[in-house]
Amino acid sequence: MKAVLASHNKKKIEEIRRILSAFFPDVTLLSLEQVGVTGEIEETGETFEENALIKARAGAGAGRFSIADDSGLEVDALGGRPGVYSARYAGEPCDDAKNNALLLSELSGVPDTGRTGRYVSVIACICPDGQAFTVRGTCDGRILTAPRGTAGFGYDPLFFVPELQKTFAEATAEEKDSVSHRGRALRAFAKALQNYREE
Ligand code: IMP
Repeated sequence: MKAVLASHNKKKIEEIRRILSAFFPDVTLLSLEQVGVTGEIEETGETFEENALIKARAGAGAGRFSIADDSGLEVDALGGRPGVYSARYAGEPCDDAKNNALLLSELSGVPDTGRTGRYVSVIACICPDGQAFTVRGTCDGRILTAPRGTAGFGYDPLFFVPELQKTFAEATAEEKDSVSHRGRALRAFAKALQNYREE
């Protein structure tokens, strides 16, 4: 099976490859560059679903699946922000350190009990026959007042996961994948794709 992974985010690509390889050991995952798509894809949607579909469509083509993830962090005390704007929260281009600093400053003075939120990942897939579908995974957590750990990317050093009793930046890759928004969305995606291929 051939699939395009419609993303330029190296850390995300690494996680998606790692999680999907357990379900589809025979899959050849191609980058956007490998199918001739260069340059930025404009994420003009207002929901994770819309943006994931925009990215997946950019990689779609005959005889292959095209898969994309749109993800972000929803913080309850901020009315769900940064949400779909998580990558560009502190401006463009995406800068994890600036995003984390802005998050801490917007939450300054908010007590532990009010620092709840969740990561969301939506995986969109365009099938070789043009059929499209999305699946969603979420992971609840709490925003700390100072970073902990060095693994992962993005907001991971500030995102404490009660299920693991550590931040995603303190977790191993296996621990993160077992409860993460992306792990959950990709397992739902694998199930949906298996059903599609059996039709
Ligand atoms: P996207 O590439 O437009 O989907 O933006 C995703 C952004 O959401 C990333 O740049 C991070 O800021 C944040 N994000 C999504 N998933 C994760 C994760 O697993 N860890 C940390 N940050 C994440």
